[in-house]
Amino acid sequence: MLEIIQLESLKDNYIYLVRSNGKTAVVDPTEAAPVLKALEERDWKLDWVWNTHHHWDHVGGNLELKQKTGCAIWASEYDFDRTPGCDRGLEPGETIEFGDCRVEVIGVPGHTLGHVAFWFSKEKTLFPGDTLFSLGCGRLFEGTAAQMWETLSRLCDLPADTVVYSAHEYTLANASFALSLEPSNSNLLSYIEKAREKRKKGQPTVPFLLGEERAVSPFLRAKDRDLQEALGLITSGPVKVFAEVRRRKDTYIDP
Ligand code: ZN
Ligand code: FE
Repeated sequence: MLEIIQLESLKDNYIYLVRSNGKTAVVDPTEAAPVLKALEERDWKLDWVWNTHHHWDHVGGNLELKQKTGCAIWASEYDFDRTPGCDRGLEPGETIEFGDCRVEVIGVPGHTLGHVAFWFSKEKTLFPGDTLFSLGCGRLFEGTAAQMWETLSRLCDLPADTVVYSAHEYTLANASFALSLEPSNSNLLSYIEKAREKRKKGQPTVPFLLGEERAVSPFLRAKDRDLQEALGLITSGPVKVFAEVRRRKDTYIDP
């Protein structure tokens, strides 16, 4: 069994506390305080920090958590030297035994080059960090559009009922951009309506289902003829289409 506690942090970060058979890990602790509070409320002992990538809003709580709980810190081998307190470098493709779960470390370069995602295959649960968001993907700070497209394609091959726990609540901001590309896409419009209702009630739009996301996100539909037409890029191939979507998002200003 896998238990997941979603913690809000800073403006729009999510930190995830995961627990299986008496073992506890935290994915991407932006800061220590909400994690320590959640642990104390449940009388849980923290065993690990797992970082998806080295950005400050994902590793900010590492050192304080290590100091106060004695947990180990694991991050991708590529990020070993730039992850505070890192004890062990993870290689893409390796499997972590965690309580009753097996967690596959998937290499997902694009947002950063050492970025990894944590995939619980039996539970169909994915922690993609800043790689995949609802209606979005991470900016290309280190990788290329070709790398990110390959990464997103790989994640899209996971089962449709995969539950995706992204690291940010960006859905409504992404929605505005997605609508600027395809203002009359009815699937997109009804997806966004549901997201708006959730936010109105103060609920998160994360996690979300991979299968639903694949059908609407412009970042996952570079092979989709309708999107290609909307961009005026019918015969360009998916990498060019994806790169154009990413480029437009980078310069998009929400009206
Ligand atoms: Zn990041
Ligand atoms: Fe982030």
